[in-house]
Amino acid sequence: MSGFKTTLITCQQCNRRIMVRTADAERGSITCSHVGCGATNTLTSGFYYDESLLNGLPGFGQLTYLGSTPTTFALQFGHNTIGTSESCVVQLDRFMHNGRCFISRRHCTLTVTFDKWSGQLRYQLQDGVPDPVTGEQQSSLNGTLLNGTPLQKTEIIDVADGEIIALGGADRFLLKHFMINPVMLETYKTELAFNPDSTQ
Ligand SMILES: [Zn+2]
Repeated sequence: MSGFKTTLITCQQCNRRIMVRTADAERGSITCSHVGCGATNTLTSGFYYDESLLNGLPGFGQLTYLGSTPTTFALQFGHNTIGTSESCVVQLDRFMHNGRCFISRRHCTLTVTFDKWSGQLRYQLQDGVPDPVTGEQQSSLNGTLLNGTPLQKTEIIDVADGEIIALGGADRFLLKHFMINPVMLETYKTELAFNPDSTQ
């Protein structure tokens, strides 16, 4: 509680403003002082990580092709469209298997976002790529798999560090998250004012 300043919160019962002082914060609750109310508001502190830290990151993770010629593809923040088309952020070769390529021109989308509550990057996979004109999600021809399990058409699934994404069943890629340095992360920690989260 060091450095705590008095702050106003909204009573969860009567919606009027009440002032939280250091003693209330240390106790973890405050009794509403308004006439006719007297509700006990529980105080929880919180914090988030400021997303301005993203500006200084050297990368946002990578995909490594697990084929005969391992290749690494850098990911960017936001939508990484993946396929053999030049319009994709991650443009792949037409990897051939007995004369056939199983990867669509616009195959799947791996989206990198920042979770400000955990301070970590989040990687979410979806089969298909939005049509550039209509914005409608267009599925791949041969599907996208995560750790061997096919994704459903509209499914958006979190991909953990070290998990395997397969395109069309034949070509496998290992995802490596970019890990934000915990010491650096700590410098972007932003305290939130107290908020009552329940009333007894
Ligand atoms: Zn009240």
